[in-house]
Amino acid sequence: METGKYLYFDAAATEMPCDEAKEAVLAAMEEYGNPSSGHCAGFASRELVEKARETVASAVGCAPEELYFTGSGTEASNIAIRGLAKLRGRISKTVLATDSEHPSVREPLKALESEGFQILRLSTRNGVIPDEEIDEACRQPLAFVTVMQANNETGAVYDLMKIRRALADNGNDAPVHCDAVQSFLKIRRNRLPSFCDLATVSGHKVGGLKGTGALYVRKNIRIPALILGGGQEQGMRSGTENVPGIASFGAAVRAKASDPGRFERMERFHDELAEAVRAMGYVCHVPEVHLPNILHIQIPGVRSSWAVNALSAMRICVSAGSACSTKKKDNPVLTAYGLTREESETSLRISFTETADEAGLHSLVEALKKIGEMKR
Ligand code: PLP
Repeated sequence: METGKYLYFDAAATEMPCDEAKEAVLAAMEEYGNPSSGHCAGFASRELVEKARETVASAVGCAPEELYFTGSGTEASNIAIRGLAKLRGRISKTVLATDSEHPSVREPLKALESEGFQILRLSTRNGVIPDEEIDEACRQPLAFVTVMQANNETGAVYDLMKIRRALADNGNDAPVHCDAVQSFLKIRRNRLPSFCDLATVSGHKVGGLKGTGALYVRKNIRIPALILGGGQEQGMRSGTENVPGIASFGAAVRAKASDPGRFERMERFHDELAEAVRAMGYVCHVPEVHLPNILHIQIPGVRSSWAVNALSAMRICVSAGSACSTKKKDNPVLTAYGLTREESETSLRISFTETADEAGLHSLVEALKKIGEMKR
């Protein structure tokens, strides 16, 4: 966790790149051929892309040809949502989501609303989607479903198998897209195709370079492309591939897959931090089922923007919520979780990786104690 420059506890915004990812970027910069070129330089570049595709697809649990690289997680979700709306808009104009989706899903859904779609938003109070709401929603004809697997602010993990089963029980063939950006490689034995037909993942959330995402699309689903051009990525996402980004994504996934002890280390850090935070008289908002690498805390009476600045002055990085929502006034995700405005405005997101250690924990706890005292 310690980088020498600062103590970094904002991994849910972006993870620090691992050594394997950095090496892969440099190696891919040396293989500078265009992966579409029909000569040896192009073949070498193509090999890097396909090797990464195999690695990421295997971690997602799909076939390599079902995985398309994109320019970000945001782009992957936009391709999925726009594509599904076009594919299924004639069957139904109703889309099922939750009330705490990331802006990369929330905003394209808003755009669909302005085009005549109706969005049903399942509630996520305390990090749980009520069974009755799932059952009722899945009885209706749906264009498609788009639900996140884990929330980027609270760390809540939603049981999407329940949605899959409710759809099947009602003979509802609506395809399911899942924003798995935060849950990818953070949940044990997480085979995304067991509960969804499309899924979004992102390279920089798992230690790869920023600006690389991927979209899994089950092979029998044919969504139209959003970006047209040279026909790269089987025509799903035209544009010359970001080979260094893709190679680093593959390398980062490989590094995590070869470290089975990482879940336990994150869980231990999470629980020890939560215990220390509670011992200081602060509040932890821990959903019943949660990610091992996000802890949402609240320091009563201390504004989160002030706390983020004060911690930053001590060279400690945490977030006042998700990086994408810090500039907006009301936080819809925390409101949906059930926090009051006062609670939201005094809450911090602490997020980390498997490299978080005891020394980092000690420094963070001391700093949190100090900022509580400074405000007293
Ligand atoms: N979905 C979730 C849940 C996220 O947390 C994020 C990033 O914060 C994204 C999607 C967007 O991913 P990207 O930064 O690759 O566009």
